[in-house]
Order: sequence, then structure tokens, then C-alpha cells
Amino acid sequence: MSSVIIVGGGHGGVDVAFGLRERGYTGRITVLDKSGFVPYERPPMSKSWINGACGPEELTLRGHDAFSGANIELMLNCEVLSIDRDSKIVETSNGSLDYSTLVLALGSSPRQLRLSGAALAGVHHLHTLEQATALRDDLASATSVGVIGAGFIGLEFASSAAKRGLPVTVMETAGRAMPRTASEFTSGYMRARHEEGGTNFRFNATVQEITDQSGRVGRVNLSDGTYVEADLVVQGVGAIANGGWVTDFGLDFDNGIVVDGTLRTKDPDIFAIGDCARFLDDEGGGTRLESVGNAADHARRVAATIAGISVPLPDVPWFWTQQAGVRLQMAGRIDRVEEWLLTGAVESNSFSVLGWRNNKLVYGESINSPSEHVTIRKLLAENTAPTLSELRPAAEMGLKAAIKFLA
Ligand SMILES: Cc1cc2nc3c(=O)[nH]c(=O)nc-3n(C[C@H](O)[C@H](O)[C@H](O)COP(=O)(O)OP(=O)(O)OC[C@H]3O[C@@H](n4cnc5c(N)ncnc54)[C@H](O)[C@@H]3O)c2cc1C
Repeated sequence: MSSVIIVGGGHGGVDVAFGLRERGYTGRITVLDKSGFVPYERPPMSKSWINGACGPEELTLRGHDAFSGANIELMLNCEVLSIDRDSKIVETSNGSLDYSTLVLALGSSPRQLRLSGAALAGVHHLHTLEQATALRDDLASATSVGVIGAGFIGLEFASSAAKRGLPVTVMETAGRAMPRTASEFTSGYMRARHEEGGTNFRFNATVQEITDQSGRVGRVNLSDGTYVEADLVVQGVGAIANGGWVTDFGLDFDNGIVVDGTLRTKDPDIFAIGDCARFLDDEGGGTRLESVGNAADHARRVAATIAGISVPLPDVPWFWTQQAGVRLQMAGRIDRVEEWLLTGAVESNSFSVLGWRNNKLVYGESINSPSEHVTIRKLLAENTAPTLSELRPAAEMGLKAAIKFLA
């Protein structure tokens, strides 16, 4: 009997497993995860989980009943240690398992700052459920909060902490929030919303060390000689792909497990998907994305490939974040943008910022405007957006109205 082993029971791994059954695959499916938790969603952990607005059952991706109902074996507390590619066997902490196809959905891990004081009590990461729970519990008695890094996770957490009335300071080496993942305009807009909520920012700030007070974190010292007082600190300085160990078994790793456009490694029976995969994109560049949308898209395509049915085209990359009372959604490739255009009225707190290359739409951000986000994804997927020169004169109307007007 053919057998698919999926290493990693996160968003991507679970979607491959259930996607295989939905596509008629009848062989053995096993999902292994080194964590002891039933597969869970990560996005709520920096949002509703932190403020106790959601319980563990709301984080569950699929419970034990769903796994047994679909005849998928779930092995928790099971870490993959090595792969024998010739014999097609994975060695795990619970014994060896043979496979016909192996899917690596290993996720990523938070980048660690090599700082003195980074291991002090009160200094946290926010990536796993254990970390999110420890942070939530510690936050209950915190009196001041420091956040290192103004990326999505840092800002989402800052927003949750500020909502509790705590003084919050975000420290960021760049000159603005979300420097690599949002336009300058949106970044400025979001900064203002966070400041209205009581969050302070220290931009162009390099953290030098973390010092203690009575055995736990007390201060974050910056390289300009100033400091931020905080008895709880979250490090949100990005993530790195898991799976560097695959090179021991002859696979390639370069800022992620290297796969082709079909998500296959150089071994045709081994795929890598989601956060851990560095894949060839539509322009032939090596890309790694960290989002639920990306993991789900990879999972859908790999499940179809293994099941031997028609493989859907890659989805347009998309992402969402909820912070400072704003829903911000992105679609497309910000790294390809050469020119920006704002559509709609900022005063309405619902608008979009569009990114263009050679007069062509390549990316869009929607602020409190889910329906414009859907429109942007459709325009990008179908390649039907008006050009920048066509849209510019009508931009003030807002994207959807402008498109209607131009039609
Ligand atoms: C706090 C937080 C908030 C986020 N918010 C958003 C958001 O708002 N929107 C969004 O799009 N994305 C968000 N993300 C990112 C999103 O969660 C990830 O991109 C997504 O989970 C990636 O899915 P994955 O399957 O690749 O990896 P994961 O879901 O991380 O799963 C990987 C799994 O592999 C397991 N594993 C790793 N190595 C081994 C091994 N050797 N053996 C066995 N098991 C192993 C791990 O235990 C883990 O369970 C957020 C992430 C975090 C941490």
C-alpha cells in the first residue's frame, strides 16, 4: 500500500493530509509532529489568545475525531530525526516508518537575538502555543511592556497589550513599522493608529542588551545610550525556516528547503511546503513566504500532485493582520513594487494602496476593506487590472468604484 508521511502538523501539513482524502487518495496517511498539542492555528495566538478572548478549542485546526474519521494517523510528540532516501524510511523519536512520498511541512522558528539578558525571566518569544500561553500568563501581572521588532507579530502583540492599558514601547531598527512588509504610506497610517491606542515607538533603535531588576527583565538598553523600562519584553524579530538538517540527507537548504515550482525537492518523492520551503516562483526566483495562505496553497497543490489529479495554478500570495483596531490585508508581491497609488479616502479609514511595476498591478494593501482585498486578489490572479495610467485619474473614488467607472 502506498504511504504518505507528513512531517509537521501545522497549517500546511494538516491541509495536505485532509486534502489527500478529499481528492480520493486511499493509501496510508500519517502526520507526525514533535509538539504534544493537537494541531492548532497560530494567527489567533498574537491576537485574541493573548487577551483571553479565545480558548484552546478555538485554536484547534482538526481534532482527534476528524483525524480518525478520515483514517489519518496523527503521531504527536514524534520528531523526525533522519531520512534514509534509498530505503525510503524516516527515523523518528518513536521508531522508523516507511514512506512512498514524504512531505516536509516543518514551519519556521523565531529568530533569536544574541543579546545579553535575552534569557531573563519576562523575556518572551511568540511562536508556539507553549510560548503564547506563558506570555499571556505573564502579561497578567506585567506593568510595562517592551516589544523588540515592529513586524506583524510584534505589532499585533503590542496592540493586545496596549488594549489592557499597559504602557507599551515598540523598538525597531528601521525607520518605520513593517519596513519590509507594508508600503510606507500604510506603515505611517498604522503607526498613527497604534499611537492613538497608547503605544510608543522608538525607530532607528538598536537594542544592545536587556538588564534585570530583582531577577527578571527591567530594562532594554539601546545603542544610543537611552533605555526603555519594561518588566515584560517580547522579541518579534522575524523567523527562520526549519529543516536545515535536510542537508545531512543530501537535500538542499538555502534560507529554506529548496524545492522547484512543483514543490519537489531534488528527490522526486520528497516535497517541502509552507514556511520551511524556498520555492521557485512565477518569475523563476527563489522565494520563501510565511503565511497561512501560502501554506494552504502549497498543501492544495501537493495533495493534488500526490493524488494524481489536475494541479491548480499557484494562488496569488496573500496575508492579513489585525492590529490597533485595523484589518490590514495584502495580496501580491511587495518586493516587486516600483510605484505606489493610493485609492479611496484615508479619512474614511477604509482604502487601498496599490503597488505597480511597469504600469502593471503587482501588489495591493487594503485597510478595513475586505471587499477591495477580494477585488485585488481577483485582478492579480486573472491579470485583468487596469494599468496605473488608466487608474490614476479615478483613484480618489476608491478601487472598486474606479474600476466600474473605467469599464
Ligand atoms: C503568533 C503568530 C501569528 C501569526 N499570524 C498570522 C496571520 O495573521 N496571518 C497569516 O497568514 N499568518 C500568520 N502567521 C504565520 C502562519 O502561522 C504560518 O505561516 C503558518 O503556520 C505556516 O504553516 P506551516 O505548516 O508551514 O508551519 P507551522 O504551522 O508552523 O507547522 C509546522 C509544524 O512542524 C512541526 N515540526 C517542525 N520540525 C519537526 C520535526 N523535525 N519533526 C516533527 N515535527 C516537526 C512543528 O512542531 C509545527 O507544528 C502567524 C504566526 C505566528 C507564530
